[in-house]
Parts: sequence; C-alpha cells; structure tokens
Amino acid sequence: LSPVPSDIEISRAQTPKAVDILAKEIGLLADEIEIYGKSKAKVRLSLLERLKDQADGKYVLVAGITPTPLGEGKSTVTIGLVQALTAHLNINSFACLRQPSQGPTFGVKGGAAGGGYAQVIPMEEFNLHLTGDIHAITAANNLLAAAIDTRILHENTQTDKALYNRLVASVNGVREFSKIQLARLKKLGINKTDPSALTEEEMRKFARLDIDPSTITWQRVMDTNDRFLRKITIGQGNTEKGFSRQAQFDIAVASEVMAVLALTDSLTDMKERLGRMVVASDRNGQPVTTGDLGVTGALTVLMKDAIKPNLMQTLEGTPVFVHAGPFANIAHGNSSVLADKIALKLVGEEGYVVTEAGFGADIGMEKFFNIKCRASGLVPSVVVLVATVRALKMHGGGPSVTAGVPLKKEYTEENLQLVADGCCNLEKQIQIAQLFGVPVVVALNVFRTDTRAEIDLVCELAKRAGAFNAVPCYHWSIGGKGSVDLAQAVREAASKKSRFQFLYDVQLPIVEKIRTIAQAVYGAEDIELSPEAQSKIDRYTEQGFGNLPICMAKTHLSLSHQPDKKGVPKDFILPISDVRASIGAGFIYPLVGTVGNITALVYTEGNRGQRH
Ligand code: ADP
Repeated sequence: LSPVPSDIEISRAQTPKAVDILAKEIGLLADEIEIYGKSKAKVRLSLLERLKDQADGKYVLVAGITPTPLGEGKSTVTIGLVQALTAHLNINSFACLRQPSQGPTFGVKGGAAGGGYAQVIPMEEFNLHLTGDIHAITAANNLLAAAIDTRILHENTQTDKALYNRLVASVNGVREFSKIQLARLKKLGINKTDPSALTEEEMRKFARLDIDPSTITWQRVMDTNDRFLRKITIGQGNTEKGFSRQAQFDIAVASEVMAVLALTDSLTDMKERLGRMVVASDRNGQPVTTGDLGVTGALTVLMKDAIKPNLMQTLEGTPVFVHAGPFANIAHGNSSVLADKIALKLVGEEGYVVTEAGFGADIGMEKFFNIKCRASGLVPSVVVLVATVRALKMHGGGPSVTAGVPLKKEYTEENLQLVADGCCNLEKQIQIAQLFGVPVVVALNVFRTDTRAEIDLVCELAKRAGAFNAVPCYHWSIGGKGSVDLAQAVREAASKKSRFQFLYDVQLPIVEKIRTIAQAVYGAEDIELSPEAQSKIDRYTEQGFGNLPICMAKTHLSLSHQPDKKGVPKDFILPISDVRASIGAGFIYPLVGTVGNITALVYTEGNRGQRH
C-alpha cells in the first residue's frame, strides 16, 4: 500500500498461521514443540539429537554501519531477507532474532519486530512477555541476589555449627553432601564425603564464604526502566539492621543469566555456566560463585523452559526463532547459539539461517565472531552490512539526527556530496568484516526520499571498497519481493569458501586483546587504562580469568568512544574506565569512555534518547 501503513496496522492486518501448522511445515515433530497460545511455541532441544547427522545450512550475519540514533534497519533487513529467500525463491530459511527488553520497547527506541512489510507477527507478543523467558531470568537473577545478602546475614549472626547444620540439612534423617557441595569441599582441599567426619575447622571453612560486601557485583534486576531504583539502600528491616548496603536494580536483560542463556548449547552446559558466575570476592580476594552459594540447581530449574527457543513467523509466514536478548554493550548483543544451531539443522544443507548482531559492525559483528562463534564453533558464510543514505549523509558531515525531531532537508533532498563523503564509514565497516575473512554484501535499506543517483552511488562505492556485492532493498515498502536481489547476492557470496578467522588469540593478556580490538577495529592509536581498570585486570588475571574473550562496552554511535565523532574518527586514544567480568557467560567486559557516559551504556541499549 502507498503510503505504507504504520507498523502496528500492518502487523494486525495479517492473521498468523497456527503455530502447529508452521511447525509441521518446517519438519518439527508433534512432541518437539510446546505451544504457547496460537502463534508461539517453544522447541525442545531433543531435536538436536534427532538431527545430529543432518548437515548445517549457510550461516548469515546481518550487521550495520555506524547508525544514526534512529536505527538503520538491521532487523527489517533480516526479516526482508528471509521473506525473499523462502516466500519468493522457495529456499528454506530461518531468521534468528533477539527478544527485546521492555526498557527500550517502552522508551524512544520502541519494539524490535522489524517494520513496514518486513516484520515478525504478532508484534505485541514478540515485544512483550513472549513466553516468559525474561521473567525467568529475572527470577533466577534475583534468587541469586537474595542468596548473597542472606548468606552474609547468616554468617554474621550464627555459629559455625549452626551454619553448617543449616547448609547440610538432613533428608529423611540422613545427612548427605550434594554434588555441588562435594565440588566445593574438593575446591577447599577437604577430601571427605561423610558430613559427620569434618573437623570443626573444616566445618568452619566449608560453611563460611566470608564475602566482602564491598566487592559484590551481582545486582537485582527488573525489566522496567525505573531510574528511581538505580541506586537504593537495601536491608532496612528490623531483622536486617546492621546489614544495610547500597545496591541497584539493573535492567533484566543486562543480567549475566541472559548472556549465559544466549551462549549456552545444552542444559548441562547452562548449569555449569550458571554455577561459575562470580558474584563477589571473599576477604582473601578469591572469587565467590553461584556454586559456592549452593543455588546453581535452583537457578537452572528456573531456566529450564527459557532454554528452549521460541518459534514465531514473519508477515509472509516464514519461520523465526526469537531467543535471548543480551544487550550489545555490557554483553555481546546476539541472539542464542541454540536457536542458530537448531535452525541450521532445520533448514538443511541448502538452506540459510540469518541472524542479526546488535549495534554497528564494529561492536555487534566483532562480538558475534570473537565471542559467539568462538562459543558455538559455528562458521559464518556471509556478512550482510546494512547501510542507509541518511546514515551515510550524517557521516559525511550532515546535521545531527535526533529521535523525535524531523529530519533536516539535507536528509530529505538529494545530496551526492554528503553521501560520497560519508561512505568512509561504510568502507571502514567493510574492512572490519574482512579482518575476519568473511565476504560482505552491502544491503542499502532504501527510504522513500532516497534518489536513484544516491542509491547508485552507494552501491558503486561499496563495491569499490571491497564488498562482494551491494544492492538496494525495498522490503520495508513491499515485503520480501523487495529483497530478492539481496537474497540472490547472498547466495552467490555464500557459495564462496569461508576463510573465517578470529581477530585475536584468547590466550593473549587481557590488555593486548583490548588493544587489538581498539586499534584494528575502532582505529584508535592506543588505549588508556584508568587505575581502576588496571587493578581489575590484574585481579581477573590472578584469579585465572585472563584467557576469556573481550566484550567491549562502547557507544554504538561512533567508531570511537565519543558519540558525536562521525565518519571514521582518527588520532584518538580509547579510554578504558573500568573492567568487569561475566565468568559464567565467559567474557571480560571493559567499559569504554568516561564515567559520565557509562550509565547510558549500562542501563539502555540503543539509547535513541531515553524517556525514562
Ligand atoms: P535496527 O534493527 O537497525 O535497530 P530496525 O530494523 O528496528 O533497525 O528499524 C528501525 C526503525 O526504522 C523501525 O521503526 C523501522 O520500521 C524503520 N525503518 C526501517 N527501514 C525503513 C525504511 N526503508 N523506510 C522507512 N522506515 C524504515
């Protein structure tokens, strides 16, 4: 239709097919799905066992150039591409997307179901609640938070013996250590299996974690952007007097439990990762984990359904997995490994799985390769790099673009000079993808105001910059048929042999890994560590966590740490103000920038202008 109706009008105008019919169409057996309502189902992991001998399909990543605060259409391109592949070229394909958080959905950013005639439907179900995975994460996260403070209270108010008896409670009159407790005993060097055989000193060692409250890094979470809970004082009740401390609520999807969900590949692995999560240090500087607190099993059971990917569909009835939604700053910004693995089996050797990495390619794609592909062992075939004329004009020196403010005339009228000047950002992002040895197809997401000359110029310059191909896409205004050229270009690129490689060796020291990303990807001269960042790096290295990949928390609005520096910033030193660790998820995350802009990084993704 012209003009294109609003996203919600389009979404509501199309009745999704019943999810059990969709499941049947894509080869799922009746006992491999758990239906939620009419248009959503969870898919059981048993499928991976059934299809273990099936060859994987081609693995395509959608990333983008440095965006304007409005977003350049990565989700829309992802959906348009699978609609083109399956509904128009009759090739099996799957889109794998992140589940959005309520924070950005009710903020200026809005939902993440795509837009125009390239959407996942029903939009409200995609954007809100889905099948409750984020609620499960909230429950698991907060159970652990409660366990930390309760443990500190008990250790400070009870005798060693009472504590020990509380921990090794008898079941039907018989005292037994759990498996997790036996592992903890081993870690403490106590080789005993009979609870009554421990000496008083051993009981004390076993029962007391001796958490240093000033080192607690585990926060409470909720999926609402409630800024009044960002700094709070807990422990104000009569029974907790003396144990008050400053704490905070983070947004639920920022929980490490979300990153674990996104990176795990089985229930057993998820349990191990949840157990490894470090929440604080003890008074000797040793890490304290979920396992030490004895709540690994409880967290795992809370997450047992969340681990199954959620099946939905596009406007054109093609299958989509919506699973996990870690932010792209403090986490790695990619949907789940499990959804990708299952989808790659379902589409078969000739099929395509298209997944999306949050933010620009300098962040989301770098993390997709160095963190997600390293965890999954999957090898990507093609990168689709999304560009828009408006973002290129901004990089070429156009006026600033702000959410909610009408675009200036530079963006609505032809301006070839701004486009040409801004293509430096596109060129740089192509080069970043090439560092990993993966061919790049540039998808120019066409807006109504783009002119033929502007479109041709971008495609020409993209090819000159080394892209395998560059094509305009019209899925937003006409659906999958508007992305058939993109689909053909992706097929050609995927037929080339992948020369995929990681950017760095995880065995390098933490500082070297950070420097490699800063210089090779962002184009920084060097990095500058604050004393806080240096001491954290020293601590993590001493604790044995030095060989994890790096997950940079940096603004997505510039290749540098300064959001207002567009194009390809030069001559800058990248400041690292702090370094944190997600040991269960399996990465170290440096906070890039000055303290002032760190809050925006940690609490919001996209930050298109916060409402809350
Ligand atoms: P990203 O995934 O990069 O953040 P989205 O795909 O979510 O971007 O798109 C951001 C917004 O821009 C959505 O509201 C979408 O409907 C709109 N949009 C995307 N492509 C177009 C287009 N070609 N024309 C008009 N609006 C578009």
